[in-house]
Amino acid sequence: MSRQSEGPRHPLSQAARSDADRISETSLHERPRPSAGCHVCHATQWTLVCSSGEIFSQRRQLERFYRRRWHAQPSGTSEDRWIFTQNYLTSIVACLECGLLYRNPRPRPEAITRAYLATRNDHESVRTEFETQGRWFRSKAGMLCGYLPVRSRTAPRVLEIGGGTGGFLAEGQALGWEMLDLDPDHALTDLGRRRGSATLQSTIEDAGWSGETFDAVTIWNSFGQLSDPHPLLNSVVPLIRSGGMLVIRIPNGACFEWAMALRAKLPKPWRRPLDAALAWNDLLTFPYLYGYSPVGLTSFMSSFGLTLRACHADTLPSVPAARLKWWAGLEERMVKGGCRTACAVSRQPVRGDFHLAPWLDVYFERP
Ligand SMILES: [Zn+2]
Repeated sequence: MSRQSEGPRHPLSQAARSDADRISETSLHERPRPSAGCHVCHATQWTLVCSSGEIFSQRRQLERFYRRRWHAQPSGTSEDRWIFTQNYLTSIVACLECGLLYRNPRPRPEAITRAYLATRNDHESVRTEFETQGRWFRSKAGMLCGYLPVRSRTAPRVLEIGGGTGGFLAEGQALGWEMLDLDPDHALTDLGRRRGSATLQSTIEDAGWSGETFDAVTIWNSFGQLSDPHPLLNSVVPLIRSGGMLVIRIPNGACFEWAMALRAKLPKPWRRPLDAALAWNDLLTFPYLYGYSPVGLTSFMSSFGLTLRACHADTLPSVPAARLKWWAGLEERMVKGGCRTACAVSRQPVRGDFHLAPWLDVYFERP
């Protein structure tokens, strides 16, 4: 049976799904009811960026987008692109004080955690992602090289949180770094150990480490999906040596907000190039709990004693070529190339909002 004939696979566990369904039933037809304020500045006033009805429409559009471009697959990997863990109808709002984007309302944190643990990461799809993203992670390791504190006698110690496929860990090891990967997902850590990598199935809060241990900590995935990043940052910042780096990769909330404002002004046919850019970068429907801007994230990190060192514009890593029809692969390369060119030409300052960049790598230093 082809994937097209199957119903969408929902990655939420049953318990989490009941929360999500309850939200989708109410939020589509009613004015959103705030269930939470801004976790950065604690303000409760917000302005609407994208209504739940609009998110519903974008989700349908995203499904059509990928069904048209994906090969029929024996596994359900194509659906992962439009059936995200944050797959419930809600509004996207912006904090009136600090500009943080967040989903409102949203399920309880316990339901969100259960949803992530229920997400499938089979060995075959992880292996394919690992092979595809090698070059991308090589560029990330090369970039981090320029920011690591220089130590003549010992190799840099680098911790990756939520290592996913293990691509960055492998590239760091190839550069001679002492790498450690921390991930709560059993399938991912199991695969990492089979490759001989130093992976630990745990969260940073449960790891129980103390003292200044690492030259750099990287969070390439999932920072925007943390219900409350405070416990993680309270645990991780003291582990970074003086002069060391915390690198966080985020979907750019400022980019999504700018795109939604532009999209609302455009006639429908003219939206297609913008929607394609958003879809190829996983920004359509904004399936993340939080959307930080570079300015907002810098302000948030300063409360943990970290200072901004650099901000780099980027796009989402490429989809494995074998999963796409040939013309879709070409379209993806052209769209992402266009995004990178637009970012480079606009020459946005380090402290600007980088609104043309779908994704950002933000480097913070511990003084
Ligand atoms: Zn705020």
